[in-house]
Amino acid sequence: MKASIPVYQPELTGNEKLYVQECLDTSWISSRGRFVSEFETEFAKAVTTSYAISVSNGTTALHLALVALDIGPGDEVIVPSFTYIASVNAIHYVGATPVFVDIEPQSWQMDCAQVEKAITSKTRAIMAVHIYGHPCDLPTLAALAKQHQLRLVEDCAEAFGSLVDNRHVGNIADIATYSFFGNKTITTGEGGMVVTNNEGLATRVRHLKGQGLMEGREYWHDIVGYNYRMTNICAAIGLAQLEQAEQFLANKKRIAAYYRTNLAAVPVAFQQIQDNVEHSWWMVSILAETATVRDHLREHLQRAGIETRPLFNPVHLMPMYFNEGLTLPVSETLAPRGLNLPSWPGLSEEQLRYIVRTIEQFFR
Ligand SMILES: *Cc1c(COP(=O)(O)O)cnc(C)c1O
Repeated sequence: MKASIPVYQPELTGNEKLYVQECLDTSWISSRGRFVSEFETEFAKAVTTSYAISVSNGTTALHLALVALDIGPGDEVIVPSFTYIASVNAIHYVGATPVFVDIEPQSWQMDCAQVEKAITSKTRAIMAVHIYGHPCDLPTLAALAKQHQLRLVEDCAEAFGSLVDNRHVGNIADIATYSFFGNKTITTGEGGMVVTNNEGLATRVRHLKGQGLMEGREYWHDIVGYNYRMTNICAAIGLAQLEQAEQFLANKKRIAAYYRTNLAAVPVAFQQIQDNVEHSWWMVSILAETATVRDHLREHLQRAGIETRPLFNPVHLMPMYFNEGLTLPVSETLAPRGLNLPSWPGLSEEQLRYIVRTIEQFFR
């Protein structure tokens, strides 16, 4: 079988078309309309937070979260280097300084001992990123934040459906964010959400995302805001996606279990699942023994029509954030050995078998 299997593709087989058609038929295509508020309400229910505020993407969600917390110049925010660039850029946007920490080699999540060491008198917040859907050690991070009077922000872009102690991620932090880019667990095309259990923060995020418009007074703006609104069309897709979320998550779990069981005898390593967490498997990722083996494995899979992705490159090595004196050995050695396997919920048993067989063949 010569297949062409992408690393990700959204499943748009529910009510997406019906709801988008309704936007077109009723001409509610901008950021007002029933789907925006319904998607927010249903999303808050799905992740059990009191408030959910839709925005234009996951990066603007992070930006608003930091603005709402009043983080700015002179402040330090502790963040893992092993993350998608947006987590760090958001810190830069508000004029604060990202302080990078390494990850734990088992879970690939930010190392809490290093977080504690990185705290200075300038530290204002910890940004916890749940990489690839495995939650960070939130209880420890929350305790550190409390002890040192820091804000806790969760970047849940990759962690829709992830649980810690049977609670959804995004509930322990002061404020948390999601992304609905096309390859995220649920998608709106481009989109994001800010969630919080704090009414004051929720009000501030709403105010900021709509140009700082004052309530009850037309064309009167009392703060410098942004246009970070989500459209009704995107929210229509999001609502339809949310209706299928349980199914997506169950399928992703099945896919992860398949890879883990059937690749057990192959010399690759998986993220190790820590106690008391539920991994939502945004991307199933493996590590080869060396970077060279990883590169050859990716080429072998590519030739067989199977797309893979490299893991994220550590951000502290990129030119904008490069710091001569800083080495983070786990991130620097782990990232080049890793790859994401096809992880979308619609993968068939036959496709999974083919991927596993192709990997086995490479190692024989
Ligand atoms: C996808 C992602 C984002 C940003 O999402 P966009 O919607 O693409 O702006 C932020 N952080 C992490 C960890 C992500 O994976």
